[in-house]
Amino acid sequence: MLSYRHGFHAGNHADVLKHFVLIQLLEYLGQKDTAYTYIDTHAGAGLYALDSGYASKNAEFETGIGPLWDRKDIPESFAAYMDLIKGLNPSGKMRYYPGSPYCANIVMREQDRLRLFELHPSEIKILGENFRKLDNHAAEQGQRQTVRGKRVIISAGDGFESLKALLPPPSRRGLVLIDPPYEVKDDYRRVKVSLEDGLKRFPTGTFAVWYPVLQRQESRSLPEKLKRLQANSWLNVTLSISGPTPDGFGLHSSGMFILNPPWTLLATLKEVMPYLVKVLGKDAKAGFVLESGEGGPPARR
Ligand code: SAM
Repeated sequence: MLSYRHGFHAGNHADVLKHFVLIQLLEYLGQKDTAYTYIDTHAGAGLYALDSGYASKNAEFETGIGPLWDRKDIPESFAAYMDLIKGLNPSGKMRYYPGSPYCANIVMREQDRLRLFELHPSEIKILGENFRKLDNHAAEQGQRQTVRGKRVIISAGDGFESLKALLPPPSRRGLVLIDPPYEVKDDYRRVKVSLEDGLKRFPTGTFAVWYPVLQRQESRSLPEKLKRLQANSWLNVTLSISGPTPDGFGLHSSGMFILNPPWTLLATLKEVMPYLVKVLGKDAKAGFVLESGEGGPPARR
């Protein structure tokens, strides 16, 4: 089923959490000179206009990047995320919001590699066009080529399936982001299976999974299942902007689960999550969960 279009949700509270954590993970990998590979199994369109098209319909960005835009009290650890979004909007007006591939492209260096997968025929077309525009702009500026070089490879295909062939990456340094729509129950199962397989092929890799926090059983049990995978360590962070709505509609809470996270991430999140709850929280049920531990079956923990 391919009805999901990320444009409807661009810049909402879930994107803020996901892209903030993603930038932290990439920046950590960039601290060493050796190249690394970023694999985005569910890439989306790459860049979204907030003032037109899908994003303007429900204006979900008003639950996320909107309230953060003019804040003057941004915590230091959150500044890289805000600077990146502001850099895409040089006029100062909030018009564009980057998807995960754009965030990665901005943070990553010449020597690093981006491998992007997208299944939706319209989204992959827009993703390709967005990166071609970047290429053209870079060429005009005499800078590096992105799409046509080896650095960025965009593929139409099933990200879960395609992941296997790319692990481990050549430099044995890498990050995988798995960010499916979860419109079908099977996405929950496929996330777990892909991670099990991914950890066998690339035990030292960092794997990040975005997930919605919903009442449905598959959603509630996902983090517990991921804690038992054979990673060295894990970190789980959720952000809730409110309690569930009476009609049960709308996403008010989501999480990022990271296998083999950098050791610095926990402290960064301790600083930033209370701030995000303060700025984005809508009622007394707003809050965050932050937990970490060693991977493997309970006996190992
Ligand atoms: N990661 C993107 C970001 O943060 O900007 C958002 C991705 S969106 C939540 C999920 C995307 O996965 C959609 O664009 C959808 O078309 C795509 N998709 C769904 N199933 C897929 C699959 N099996 N393989 C690759 N892409 C898939």
